[in-house]
Amino acid sequence: MPRTGHHPAPATAPTPHNRDESHPYIHLDPDLCIACGRCVRMCDDVQGTFALTLTGRGADTVVAPGTGGPWAQSDCVACGGCVDTCPTGAITQPGPGRGITTGQPHPQHVRTTCGYCGVGCALDVVVSDNQVSAVLPALDGPVNQGHACVKGRFSHGYLTSADRLTQPMIRKNGTLEPAGWEEALTLAADGLRAAVAAGGPDAVAAISSARATNEENYLIQKFLRTVIKTNNIDNCSRLCHAPSAAGLSAAFGHAGGTDSFDDAEKADCLLVVGANPVEAHPVIGARLLQQALNKASLIVADPRAVGLAHHADVHLRPRPGTNVALFHGLAHVLVAEGMTDPDFLRERATGLTELIELLAHYPPARTAELTGVPAQDITAAARLYGRARRPAILYGLGVTEHLHGTDGVRTLANLAILRGALAHTGRGYGIIPLRGQNNVQGASDMGALPDLLPGYGRVTDPQARTRAEAVWGRPLPTRTGLRIPEMLQAARQGTLRALWIIGEDVCATDPNSHRVADALDTCPLVIVNELFPSRTTQHADIVLPVASWLEKDGTFVNFDRRFQRVRAALRPPAAARTDFDVVHALAAAMGADLGCRTPAETLAECGRIAPLFAGLSHTRLDREGAVAWPCPSPDQPGQATLYTRAFTTPDARAHLSAAPYLPPGEEPDTDYPLLLVTGRRWTHYNSGSMTRRGGNLLLEAHDHLDLHPQDAARHHLTDGTEVTVESRHGKARLTARLSDELSPGQVFCAFHFPESGVNSLTSDHADTVTSCPEYKVTAVRLTHTTT
Ligand code: SF4
Repeated sequence: MPRTGHHPAPATAPTPHNRDESHPYIHLDPDLCIACGRCVRMCDDVQGTFALTLTGRGADTVVAPGTGGPWAQSDCVACGGCVDTCPTGAITQPGPGRGITTGQPHPQHVRTTCGYCGVGCALDVVVSDNQVSAVLPALDGPVNQGHACVKGRFSHGYLTSADRLTQPMIRKNGTLEPAGWEEALTLAADGLRAAVAAGGPDAVAAISSARATNEENYLIQKFLRTVIKTNNIDNCSRLCHAPSAAGLSAAFGHAGGTDSFDDAEKADCLLVVGANPVEAHPVIGARLLQQALNKASLIVADPRAVGLAHHADVHLRPRPGTNVALFHGLAHVLVAEGMTDPDFLRERATGLTELIELLAHYPPARTAELTGVPAQDITAAARLYGRARRPAILYGLGVTEHLHGTDGVRTLANLAILRGALAHTGRGYGIIPLRGQNNVQGASDMGALPDLLPGYGRVTDPQARTRAEAVWGRPLPTRTGLRIPEMLQAARQGTLRALWIIGEDVCATDPNSHRVADALDTCPLVIVNELFPSRTTQHADIVLPVASWLEKDGTFVNFDRRFQRVRAALRPPAAARTDFDVVHALAAAMGADLGCRTPAETLAECGRIAPLFAGLSHTRLDREGAVAWPCPSPDQPGQATLYTRAFTTPDARAHLSAAPYLPPGEEPDTDYPLLLVTGRRWTHYNSGSMTRRGGNLLLEAHDHLDLHPQDAARHHLTDGTEVTVESRHGKARLTARLSDELSPGQVFCAFHFPESGVNSLTSDHADTVTSCPEYKVTAVRLTHTTT
């Protein structure tokens, strides 16, 4: 399968001895190859990239990249599987990890959970002298089963990057200057007290992070609620999967996927919507690909022809922003052709009458007009899903990051409800969100949200508050707090006087980034916990250096609700501290004691507030590896499959949604004739703060604007032309890359290189229910970059 990455010139040409050392992470010595073909089978049958081949004849047969030429320019996506499977050392990892492979005994290792994407791969970190020698996927990893991707396995060079923040910084006379912890914490505490004195507790807010552990998220929200006495706490799920939490809980009860990925792997039909897991969730993407190649039909709904779409039985390419119409079109065919489950709908669901009335307006022909998807493809996809014995739905940010993202989640969930296709019914495997960041599920589970306490009790619900108050021993604020966009707006308006940002580069990743910077500049006190100088630290008054995921202890929750342990493999550098220690220290500087001395104690306390997590503990996770929530008691297993007895909605029924299709916030016009979709690429991760500091930069050195050759010709652009992208909100500079993966009229770029300014393009339009930004639909125009 072709990858979509950039193929740069090799860093190093093949050596005279025929060795290929062009790739930053994988080297080949053909002289050691015995042509056993294990690496080729690993690449084909596990990773699914088909990047390797055996070449030559007889005794001269050796492995080589299938594309010919150097490894760095091949289709390899550097999962590292070939390194582990090569029995002779012909394929190796360079550097201190050379010769260290998965499955071999390596005494000095620490088992932890990957801190990049939401898959939750278990990794064994081999350490020497407080330095990483190698990171190996754990063969008994509950989710990854011995597999990993370039990020989790190889992208740890950032740990020792020269610009790592290692001591606190305080802004003096406009410049950030080094300071001691005591000075920085005293200044922060005084600033928070002053903000409360001037504007009350609600003049303070904090943005927590999916990058932080559950225990850190729990502690941060506890600090805001019990020390500052405000509910102004939010986390970065606001920018990605908040519509999943809202949509899934409205449809079924819980704010997570209905079933486990282990179950979804048994499906005979996969409907993958608005997601490119091959690049953004590579281990899951590889497994879904194998499933589609071997035993399941595959429907992909995505505007771009990338990843799994190359192998789809039906590829639906809706115009960005038309998901709800597409899902109604599919539902129309399910209903019209009798592919529903009447017993389930009668006994377990509600809202059918209203939905059927609405679906009358979405026959395939009209849906085709609304979405641009041919009517016959809509019918074919609906029949594949509708006639499958046990179908599963997986979806990503292409569903959520829209003006009507929550409606998108709910109307996609309609399909599973119409068919009664949930694991506990035996007729399918439900609907599973592919959460993007490592702990974006956990940050919300822990109550780092303005309206919800740990375990999803509402701050406005006296019963939920009383439970938390009994454990915390303090009265809690009753008013719902601010969401991230509201915090930024309050800062611009002068009512927010202190903002604590933990592990987020909001000036790079939040939409309409110029306005984000304005908000920070207006706010009298901005405290930022960070690993590196960033766009956001440029606007901070106090910068606190913190530990990375390889340097901390706690737990993460992955995309299918599994808690797993995170363990410190290394000590943080110099004066850097964990976010856990920083929250405690700031509380102490304000004269407060948060209790929860250790991460283990913290999870235990969380379980006393949140029945969903009451059966979880570090000891149990150490013993069992991964446990899914809900897990209400230590003697019960986690519930990977939900709703075996009843849905957890107020009436114990699944709720169909009859939300009509409404257009996106922006549509192309004569001034801005193209639609920009933003997303991720396999080489980098989010703002790129970790992946841009290491070998991944050799794999992709800068960001690109992908556009269809017809659009390129219209704009007189060729591959490599520097192009200025303009929206109504800002400008970005990117390098054009021609690609027929895009439909004409649509362009795509990632946001891994903040200097290109991609998020100055995106708008303030946001999901009407959750305020999740509409990253997937921005009207833009292109001009040649002149300087
Ligand atoms: Fe880490 Fe995700 Fe890659 Fe697994 S797939 S190694 S969790 S980035």
